[in-house]
Amino acid sequence: MNIIELIEKKKNNEKLSYEELKYIVDGYLDGSIKDYQMSSFLMAICLTSMSDDEVFDLTKIMIDSGEIMDLSKISGIKVDKHSTGGIGDKTSLVVLPIVSSCGVPVCKMSGRGLGITGGTIDKLESINGFKTNLTEEEFINEVNDIKMAIVSQTKNLVPADKKIYALRDVTGTTDSIPLIASSIMSKKIASGSDKILLDVKFGSGAFMKNIDDAKKLANLMVKIGKSFNKETVCILSNMDYPLGSSIGNLVEVKEAIDTLDHKGNKDFLDFCLVLSSYMVSMGKNISLDDALDLCYEKYNDKTALNKLYDFIKYQGGNLDTTDELENKILIKSDKEGYLNDLDTKNIALFVNSLGAGRVNKEDIINHNVGLVFNKFIGDKVNINDELCTIYSNNKIDDNKIKEFFKISDTKCNKIKLIYDIVK
Ligand code: URA
Repeated sequence: MNIIELIEKKKNNEKLSYEELKYIVDGYLDGSIKDYQMSSFLMAICLTSMSDDEVFDLTKIMIDSGEIMDLSKISGIKVDKHSTGGIGDKTSLVVLPIVSSCGVPVCKMSGRGLGITGGTIDKLESINGFKTNLTEEEFINEVNDIKMAIVSQTKNLVPADKKIYALRDVTGTTDSIPLIASSIMSKKIASGSDKILLDVKFGSGAFMKNIDDAKKLANLMVKIGKSFNKETVCILSNMDYPLGSSIGNLVEVKEAIDTLDHKGNKDFLDFCLVLSSYMVSMGKNISLDDALDLCYEKYNDKTALNKLYDFIKYQGGNLDTTDELENKILIKSDKEGYLNDLDTKNIALFVNSLGAGRVNKEDIINHNVGLVFNKFIGDKVNINDELCTIYSNNKIDDNKIKEFFKISDTKCNKIKLIYDIVK
């Protein structure tokens, strides 16, 4: 086999066999296929696409490039969750405590944030002492003890994806549905859970900009899940606006706690309860209605809140000794009307510029900066009302922040968060 011939073949939209794909992935991992050849091959996929069989083969080859987690020492049906990433997306910190307090074990490996979307691991690391790199044994013991754990992805999980994703990131080859689907699903399948709930986000704050592409990605990932005998359900959710009321790291941990402590944003809570009910329904093989009732019960009696505290403590976190947020700066409106739109992408870029996110992988995060919304889409705004609170020790240009909030005379409709479910 010859890499140049295979690149040509893909460029001409011909199908590649399992052996040909394996030759490319293995060759890239062992260094015999160079970055420039792999990037050319990835670009050919972006410009032509792949058949379903090619995607299943690529997923299998990537899974086999590393170790597969063996969760057989944990009894019960294990359900994993994955979000394609959004602004202010702290759903795992709310959903996992609800699901595990319903008796469904959740073993989650999470990533760090890059670009405008934050990572669950970064959020958890804002808690003093919180350990995210547990050994496999510690991870399994924790799930057996308290039914949930969140750790950072081990080095040996899908190493092919790690190397290929890093190359895609710098060669303009991230936005290919087959590449995204095989990248996400290889990691989910190698993580060892029995069933998978996916939250595919679309809109201005997500990397899938429209619902049609999000649906294509969802359908493909559900098909990949089935081909590996893992029941997979995918929720399509809107990311035109930040999720919940905060963006940052420690602010988002605090919001997750407030949400489970009955002091949070109602739309965000409802969204988390729907996600939780799908996971509980899959994990306990019960109807969605029964699962939702159970989730409400664990939310109402604060079992889920206590589960979140138990989980933080189990992984070494101490909220009492965690640093405070940076200085509080209130941004007040100088207009009257209704909040009709938000410049989501620029808000996220602004929060990143405070230090909450990374531009490059090696950047160090400031966990104690962030933004909390005091007004939401559709709210009435009066002059001098607080639009948002910023936590930062830097000087902030108020006028720049106010421009992110689009206030006009007419009231717009409430945002619908969930658009479709693909099974
Ligand atoms: N997340 C992943 O893990 N892979 C992609 O390709 C895109 C998002």
